[in-house]
Amino acid sequence: MEDCLFCKIIAGEIPSNKVYEDDMVYSFYDIDPKAPEHILIIPKKHMKSILEVQGDDFQYVDAMIKAAQEIAAEKGLDADGFRLVFNTGENGGQTVPHLHMHLLGGRYMEWPPG
Ligand code: AMP
Repeated sequence: MEDCLFCKIIAGEIPSNKVYEDDMVYSFYDIDPKAPEHILIIPKKHMKSILEVQGDDFQYVDAMIKAAQEIAAEKGLDADGFRLVFNTGENGGQTVPHLHMHLLGGRYMEWPPG
């Protein structure tokens, strides 16, 4: 999609600090980290949010979860734990309309979130 920030990051038109990539997903450090480790995992296909995922596109969500497992292990977050978040829509606090999963770790995560 032409005017999508995350599509431009995937295409390399906007720089990012890459963490992981395969044929389905791209992952990079969040520019405004909310935890010692704050990584975004995004599908290479443009979908606005988790609400747009249908049918075969659920394979992208599988790939995102698998990437999170690999990244968490590689960053040593698997022992102490971490949080995966899909902010969705206005009340969910979503600011970028390209499906993304936050991986937050390296500190204790309070519950409930703000
Ligand atoms: P959300 O608020 O759930 O839509 O998450 C969007 C996230 O994208 C925020 O945590 C932003 O800090 C992050 N973000 C925005 N622009 C960039 C960028 N150019 N590179 C990396 N992360 C970004």
